[in-house]
Amino acid sequence: PPTSTSLFLNEDTEKKPLPERGGFRRRLHSAMERRASSMKERMSSNSRDSVKGFLKRNLFVLFTVAAVVLGISSLDSKASGKMGMRAVVYYMVTTLIAVFIGIVVVTIIQPGKGSWHSPVAKGRNIEPVQAMKLCLTKRVVAAHESSYNTVEEMVPGSSSSAGVNALGLVIFSMCFGLVIGNMKQQGQPLRDFFDCLNEAIMRLVAIIIWYAPVGIMFLIAAKIVEMQNLADVWSQLGMYTMSVIVGLLIHGLFVLPLLYFVVTKKNPYSFIGGLLQALITALGTSSSSATLPITFRCLEENNHVDKRVTRFVLPVGATINMDGTALYEAVAAIFIAQVNDMDLNFGQILTISITATAASIGAAGIPQAGLVTMVIVLTSVGLPTEDITLIIAVDWFLDRLRTTTNVLGDSLGAGILEHLSRKELEFQDAELHNSVVEEN
Ligand code: ASP
Repeated sequence: PPTSTSLFLNEDTEKKPLPERGGFRRRLHSAMERRASSMKERMSSNSRDSVKGFLKRNLFVLFTVAAVVLGISSLDSKASGKMGMRAVVYYMVTTLIAVFIGIVVVTIIQPGKGSWHSPVAKGRNIEPVQAMKLCLTKRVVAAHESSYNTVEEMVPGSSSSAGVNALGLVIFSMCFGLVIGNMKQQGQPLRDFFDCLNEAIMRLVAIIIWYAPVGIMFLIAAKIVEMQNLADVWSQLGMYTMSVIVGLLIHGLFVLPLLYFVVTKKNPYSFIGGLLQALITALGTSSSSATLPITFRCLEENNHVDKRVTRFVLPVGATINMDGTALYEAVAAIFIAQVNDMDLNFGQILTISITATAASIGAAGIPQAGLVTMVIVLTSVGLPTEDITLIIAVDWFLDRLRTTTNVLGDSLGAGILEHLSRKELEFQDAELHNSVVEEN
């Protein structure tokens, strides 16, 4: 039968022996020990976090600086002369048009706002009121941060909420790249340094990517479980894929050919017909650089583009001029924002345009390089970089399509630049002819 004392004790207390009288020192000692061990645990987990954060931040900074500085500086060093300047203008204008098309298409189709329009509310099992609060807070914070900070963050010294000021870093790297490019021969050691750094980071990333499939499998599995509704995930991914394809088609089949026609007054589609082999190779290899030899052949042998133009523009174009990649980066970033139920304001969209352009310049002409440089775009507007796992499943396919658009952009660019530079080329030909005649 319960005793009078046991009536006031719960089961737990009943099992524990009551502290001995006079055991105060012992109890104090054990309490202090418990506290010390919990502090130790917290400190070690903090240092683990900071090591991870340190690695993440510094790898990101190194990667962004190396990729963007290298891209811009090589562009500027080749930009001497009229043809170089025209190439730069063509690269920038077409890349920005591609980004613009991507933004318009993804905003109209809204692939991330499918049947489960709020992952916070549905996927993560949070009470509706709490979910609403979260959404509202997110929106208010996002709106506040972006409108006040976009301009401020362009200044490299300031820091963003994400810990790394991605936009500032990109702007700084662009300026630094321009200066190094302007230094011509004097800047060569620095260009070599960034080239080497970029190569080293790419190799490191290649090692990580080699182990990635296992991790990615679990990450995707976790995402899918988190979202609960598989059909919705696939329908959203399907709409996202469609948005990228529609954007690429508009840019590759209408905008670029129109530009070619306006400048050269020649039929763009017969020019594209001559490029078929290069386009199929790009589709097969997902690499602008690997396609380069075929692009040279198609342009020089089928389309009779002057070798002085192709040898000058194609190597730079293959690593810098990536309209397809820029378009895809913008669509993917806005898709991830939609999935996270984050409304982007004008400042944030501007930031995405700038960083998507920079990320396409920084991406190497190799498979899935654009997926890696996506981190720059997402970080710049505070979107979760781990959500890249959402789009990995379809990236092998989209990579082929954007690479084909990249190669198409470079090739049509070579045609346009040859037309614009024909006077200089004729002049060079005449000079060469005269010197040969004089020698004879
Ligand atoms: N694979 C693309 C290319 O080589 C780059 C990218 O991943 O977007 O052009």
